Amino acid sequence: MQASVLPFMRSLPTASSVSPNREVRARWRKHARGAMLGLALGDALGATVEFMTPREIRQQYGRHDRIRGGGWLRLPSGAVTDDTTMALALGNSWLASRNAPNEEDYARAFDAWMRSKPVDIGNTVRRGIAHFRRTGQAWVPPSEDAGNGATMRCSPIALALLGAPADTVARATLAQARVTHHNPLTDAATLTVVNMIQAGLSGVGIRAVMQQAHLLVEAFPLFRFRTHKVENPSGYIVDTMRVVLQAIDLCDSFESAVVDVVNRGGDADTTGAIVGTIMGALHGEDALPERWLKELAPEMLSRCSEQADALIERSPAWLLGL
Ligand SMILES: [Mg+2]
Repeated sequence: MQASVLPFMRSLPTASSVSPNREVRARWRKHARGAMLGLALGDALGATVEFMTPREIRQQYGRHDRIRGGGWLRLPSGAVTDDTTMALALGNSWLASRNAPNEEDYARAFDAWMRSKPVDIGNTVRRGIAHFRRTGQAWVPPSEDAGNGATMRCSPIALALLGAPADTVARATLAQARVTHHNPLTDAATLTVVNMIQAGLSGVGIRAVMQQAHLLVEAFPLFRFRTHKVENPSGYIVDTMRVVLQAIDLCDSFESAVVDVVNRGGDADTTGAIVGTIMGALHGEDALPERWLKELAPEMLSRCSEQADALIERSPAWLLGL
């Protein structure tokens, strides 16, 4: 290297000279863990009452607010379902390489996940992974199918790309979605959830988080949520998002929002998972109920915490102090 270049190079800011202080990083870590553990807690709580109506839930449990397993999958207490394990598979595809994964990397991660015989798998997800196995193509063609499977698993993108430019975040969000889902409503909802998680992680507060929801409604009025209370949501992303947004809009704590949404029944593990992720990102791991964390399978507790740490520590925000 020529000596004349050196003074100039030394004057460039380095990652360490502009990196955020310890307090900011500690906060990001807590909120990243809040997102990944919140996902698992919402999934584990909701799985008990998936496919039940609110009336059936009331008759059987009163207010369902305890992680206890069971449900149609007959889960042990503290077990999670595809919502969490698929997100972890997506997160692992990030941690397996230095660069951002491409669509094939996501498809291979989901393929490996399906081979691990998950306890549950949605129809659209199964079809998309089968399409990849059959054709080698990691993108499914455009479809009328607007299920919630691409949205439930998106949290690792939000963590790994905190501080990245919006178009980078959007490209990664859609690349992971395309393996199984290709629909404008699922695209819009998945991007919205990633943006809500990032707003939560950034510490800008509930108004900034909800602003993303209002932008979604502006673009697609079908998602209107300030209406009558929606119950028994299906796996259709519009139904799912309306109850998710109602719960986040009206509840001011992690626990109250997750309990609210799962007691509406229907696709309760997924609505619980999405609300848990967003509210966990917003309020951080200290806001997660201790009794739920104690009940969560220990292996899941450590996998979610470790992945949250590893993902947030490779984000542009963490590395460059953006
Ligand atoms: Mg599930």
